[in-house]
Amino acid sequence: MEKQTPLVKVLLENRGKIIQVGKYNEIEFDKFLKSIVIAEKERLIILEKIKQNGSINLEILKNELGFTEENLIYNIEYLKELGSLESLGEKSRFFHRFIVNKEKEGLFPNVSIIRDKNQCCGCGLCDSICPTNAINYSSSTFEINEDLCFNCGLCFSCCPRSFFPKILKRYKRRNESNIKFLEQLNYYHQIYSAHTIDNPTQSGAIITALLKTAFREKLIDATIAVSVSDEPHKPLPVIIDREEELVRVSSTNYTNTPSLKLLHSARNYRNIAIVGTPCMMEALKKISFYPFNKPFYKNIALKIGLFCMELFDYEKMKELLKTEFQISLDQRVKQIDIEKGRFYVFYKDGSIFTIPVKMLKKYARLECFFCDDLTSEQADISVGSIGSKSEWSTVILRTEKGAKLFEKILNSQLIEAKELKEDSKSFSSLNRIAKSKQKIYKEVYRPKMVEQDPQIRITNFQEVSKGLPLEMVKLESKRCLQCGVPQCVEGCPVNINIPKFIRLLKKEKWIDALRVIKDYNLLPAICGRVCPKENQCEKTCLLNFLEEPITIGYLERFIADWERKNKLKECPECKPPNQVKVAIIGSGPAGLICAGELARLGYDVTIFEAFHAGGGVLTYGIPEFRLPKEIVKDEIKTLKMLDVKVQYNTIIGKSLTIQDLREMGYKAIFIGIGAGLPMFPKIPGLNLNGVLTANEFLTRVNLMKAYKFPEYDTPIKVGEIVLVIGGGNTALDSARVAKRLGARKVIIVYRRSELEMPARREEYHHTIEEEIEFQFLTNPLRFIGDEKDNVKQVKVIKMRLGEPDESGRRRPIPIENSDFIIEVDTVILAIGALANPILTKSLPDLKLNKWGYIETDENSKTSLEGVYAGGDIVSGSATVISAMGGGKKAARAIHEYLKYKLALINN
Ligand code: FAD
Ligand code: SF4
Repeated sequence: MEKQTPLVKVLLENRGKIIQVGKYNEIEFDKFLKSIVIAEKERLIILEKIKQNGSINLEILKNELGFTEENLIYNIEYLKELGSLESLGEKSRFFHRFIVNKEKEGLFPNVSIIRDKNQCCGCGLCDSICPTNAINYSSSTFEINEDLCFNCGLCFSCCPRSFFPKILKRYKRRNESNIKFLEQLNYYHQIYSAHTIDNPTQSGAIITALLKTAFREKLIDATIAVSVSDEPHKPLPVIIDREEELVRVSSTNYTNTPSLKLLHSARNYRNIAIVGTPCMMEALKKISFYPFNKPFYKNIALKIGLFCMELFDYEKMKELLKTEFQISLDQRVKQIDIEKGRFYVFYKDGSIFTIPVKMLKKYARLECFFCDDLTSEQADISVGSIGSKSEWSTVILRTEKGAKLFEKILNSQLIEAKELKEDSKSFSSLNRIAKSKQKIYKEVYRPKMVEQDPQIRITNFQEVSKGLPLEMVKLESKRCLQCGVPQCVEGCPVNINIPKFIRLLKKEKWIDALRVIKDYNLLPAICGRVCPKENQCEKTCLLNFLEEPITIGYLERFIADWERKNKLKECPECKPPNQVKVAIIGSGPAGLICAGELARLGYDVTIFEAFHAGGGVLTYGIPEFRLPKEIVKDEIKTLKMLDVKVQYNTIIGKSLTIQDLREMGYKAIFIGIGAGLPMFPKIPGLNLNGVLTANEFLTRVNLMKAYKFPEYDTPIKVGEIVLVIGGGNTALDSARVAKRLGARKVIIVYRRSELEMPARREEYHHTIEEEIEFQFLTNPLRFIGDEKDNVKQVKVIKMRLGEPDESGRRRPIPIENSDFIIEVDTVILAIGALANPILTKSLPDLKLNKWGYIETDENSKTSLEGVYAGGDIVSGSATVISAMGGGKKAARAIHEYLKYKLALINN
């Protein structure tokens, strides 16, 4: 018996289940398994040889093993994805995101990419390959029957959206004579603009003519095609094995959805024609073992490629057409189509509705970015609309076979064609578009930030991360796909035009890139450092589906640091002063952005700040080693350039009231006072010496520079052992500051598990590197002091997680009799913050919610005339960028309000 690989084993274990489903009978299953055994054996031979050689050298492998280059490349990609080549530094591209789910070595685990419906192109390859028919298409999407699926991962290994053996695409048939090479279009004999003579406007007519002739010439004995169905958006995949039956498919678009679903049933035909998109042509190579080790691909006698088109979310489009254009896609519709930038609805009564595609663009499904091939260079003939005039198609003849077939059609006068010459306009537009699709992301990986060594950095307060070097920025900017529907912009709370910014970086137009950023965000050096980008722009970056997202935050930081290093100060464009006074209360990110945006609109803006320094939490909360105060000061200078005035040491609600501000001539007021009141646990011992709030501790260190004592007159002593309570950024910052102040041991106690911890992941890793201990699922019960009332011990209890609470996180529940004592010298409480009532108490008519935060309408307006609010005082403790988003939104609303109010006054 052959050595059983995990894949073979899992198939054998599920033999009964597979046969019961009926896709294979016993004999067929054994043949199927045999082909997989052969394929797996080859893979193992390749793996062993690579390991023996200690490198992946195709030439050596080819000589030593005698396998074809195609076979080697495909198997190497497969092995990479399985993680089998990690010891040689070959990281899996798709798989690493799912590695946590890895159940069995040698199998694609829990193939999430297949389960992600947004990623599905509908080609149906997975359905064809699945031995148990566990994948069922319905409409334009599919369901996986979890009872039938046993996670063999075969679907993943065939999916056009999973790993691409990219180099295979470059496999050129150099021995074919009379072939032209062009980097973008790759090989071709000739390119024609063509249309059928009898029915020039008919969609798909050229392909039908090609298939018809292929049948006549006995080049094929079957074709997998798309038949007309009752509903225009639900094409029916069919196998056609006679020319006469082609009438069933004429007038269809030959879109691939889900045309290859029938691959399994078609396996007994020896000369099949396939019509499909570039990714499908490519992916067909991946099922080389199917069904009897390698024959299927060889059974394809003719490949007709379709130019790659965009996909649309049909349901959303349908909704949009109905609501915005009063068009309903119902039984009266004969066909829908996208051609030359326009979307068409053809009705059975002959009428047509059409609009430019860009009007539907926001409803487009993720644009396909999985390959850089626009024209199906794998095909014998590619057919598409780019490069030709209306009612004509572009036909690229790639192989001798394709060229001969086309010649036959021309001779039979089914088609009229004009050759496209390389110096023609059509040729260059085709070439330009094909070139624009070329992506290079596959060779470059997300860069790592340069950081101070953990052992050194715990002895100083200098910044941990050093930023990306220029060369890395250049490489990283090239990795961006420049998506047509960029999800990153949606993910950013201030909607920076990220693709434009990255495009300018790529062109090394630094100052222009900086201008783009500043147009949306006046504090890029801050956001680039502390934004939780992993939950915002980077989370929505489309590259997440392929590999790792663009380091948008690092790039933003780079450009802001570049400005500072070059002693530049870019001031965004402003309108002329309008002498209208606006007061901003609080100089945190919400206040700063609101002030900046209003100043840009020409308002006379003054910020009132309770402290002697600006920046809010940026200055007194976030420590120096994460956000140097020089950088905060420098960013605030941009506001000074915009003529924003700042009045420090002024507590509104105490030193001045809102009424005072109105009397001083301020026509509108923005409240951005944050949520700076610390929360306390309801347990005994809070009054002991050495029990501090994170707020007090961090303010003393950051604002009063206690870490520079005696240079600065604020002493601070933490002792040997520091216990921090909480799991957010504040807890981690406090712990890391305590470590830097000399604590021997710092422990973070958090009542939930690591998964629920709200702190930024990057900071969590930094904290671990700094050897700070975490006690998850642990909660304090009481603080115990010595005879001098200095805290000495904390009694804690272990917790378990119950059902989710109103925050959506699982509720921690104490475990009986699991309490124990931790010896401490200092305790820092970082369990959250509340709204500070100083200002709000002075305004009885100001509407607050039950937690004391200010209530606003959707335009950031409070219950008081002319008073707006944003940032943490509205949302509760959140993030820098969300506070900035709040400030920006309020600025727009204030502008609208004042425009209206001033117009009334002037009239
Ligand atoms: P604040 O930044 O709190 O600013 C409010 C300002 O108003 C302060 O300057 C205050 O002095 C002033 N003020 C208050 N009352 C008055 C008054 N009556 N009169 C005049 N002035 C007044 N977010 C991230 O995105 N990333 C992080 O890494 C991160 N780390 C954090 C670490 C710590 C320790 C803390 C505490 C928070 C952190 N956050 C982080 C959260 C983030 O800093 C806040 O969400 C953000 O600063 C809120 O901005 P804001 O403008 O609403 O309020
Ligand atoms: Fe697309 Fe990511 Fe680039 Fe944004 S950053 S345009 S989502 S690749």
